[in-house]
Amino acid sequence: MNEPLMSLQNLTRTFDTRGGRIVAVDNVSFDLHKGDILCLVGESGSGKTTVARMAGGMLKPSLGKVLFEGRDINAMGKDDFKSYRQAVQIIHQDPYASLNPVQTIGEIIRAPLLHHKLVKGRREATQRVAELLELVDLSPAENYIGKYPHQLSGGQRQRVSIARAMTLNPRMIIADEAVSMVDVSTRVSLLNTMLKLSNELGVTFMFITHDLSVVKYFGWEGRVGVMYVGKLVERGRTPNLIGRSLHPYTRALAAAIPEADPDLTRSKEKLQLRSLDIPNLNALPSGCVFHPRCPYWVEGLCDVKSPPLVDVGNGREVACHVVVRNIQEGGNGRDLAPTSEELRTSSAAD
Ligand code: SF4
Repeated sequence: MNEPLMSLQNLTRTFDTRGGRIVAVDNVSFDLHKGDILCLVGESGSGKTTVARMAGGMLKPSLGKVLFEGRDINAMGKDDFKSYRQAVQIIHQDPYASLNPVQTIGEIIRAPLLHHKLVKGRREATQRVAELLELVDLSPAENYIGKYPHQLSGGQRQRVSIARAMTLNPRMIIADEAVSMVDVSTRVSLLNTMLKLSNELGVTFMFITHDLSVVKYFGWEGRVGVMYVGKLVERGRTPNLIGRSLHPYTRALAAAIPEADPDLTRSKEKLQLRSLDIPNLNALPSGCVFHPRCPYWVEGLCDVKSPPLVDVGNGREVACHVVVRNIQEGGNGRDLAPTSEELRTSSAAD
């Protein structure tokens, strides 16, 4: 296969806090090729945004490398790093915070075009601003160019952020919870706009979200990495991973995806976790960090030994002692027995 556009290699990031040193990201690796959609999903504190910040060059890893077209971005000179930051654009969760409130939409989008000399003069800049607004479905563009951010809805502001990101003709976009602050109907429409950029312009996406139902819509043709307190616990192609999740944490996330069809909702697997509490990064559990919540944990194994990410075939990798053992013994990785009698009884009743 061709050289990846971006390669994250064994990324680890620690932070020193008042409670001691925490490991926010622990040895995370993956590649993105041109045109890929890679979704990183996990709860708050899973480390997905820290991975995005390292990939975007906003934060240096404590260990590991971010390679872009084979070059370590943290070893680049000033000019090369500037070109990198132009090639990889970031769309943040809160468009209002990232748009200058005293500039019009036209001025916000025109500024990088002029600053980077991507247009010859103001007339061409205005024409390009209109094209970019149409590209992100703010149409007709003249209805938006003279407005200020506060005069637009949250969804429209996020479209302006996307248009601004597209001013520099990026090769890759890192979208960090980019649709989590808008309502459901706007969310679908924004996701469609970003899919258009992927399908028509070949933009590579790293899409960060806490919501697996958004992954199901946006990343169906791509891959998913599931993170839990700093570690990748499962990854694979989206239809496989959502349709037949293996890691108990992914199974719990998949079970929570709402379905339009009530019959489908009723027939879905219900996975009862032992606890809803996410562990404190200052006091992580021993062994598998998911074991205090996992219905399938095995005493003496899961609370002692951290499971590595293992290739189980069909493009799937999973970090779970019990799932891997089940597959190695000829199972499908899902026919697992809950550990406690209480959970066994409750599963049978479901
Ligand atoms: Fe659960 Fe054990 Fe697998 Fe961790 S390793 S997810 S505790 S079964």
